[in-house]
Amino acid sequence: MTDIQNQPVCMQCGATSNDNVLIQCLKNGDEDWVCVSCLPILIHGGH
Ligand SMILES: [Zn+2]
Repeated sequence: MTDIQNQPVCMQCGATSNDNVLIQCLKNGDEDWVCVSCLPILIHGGH
């Protein structure tokens, strides 16, 4: 997910790099971003 200004935002919670540390990742072949707060959710399969 990328916002209008082309600024990376967390695909889980929408945090920007100003809010949290973002990590680039790949999902279904698409580049995406996730913040470190949401990374454990992904690792543990929260949804
Ligand atoms: Zn997040």
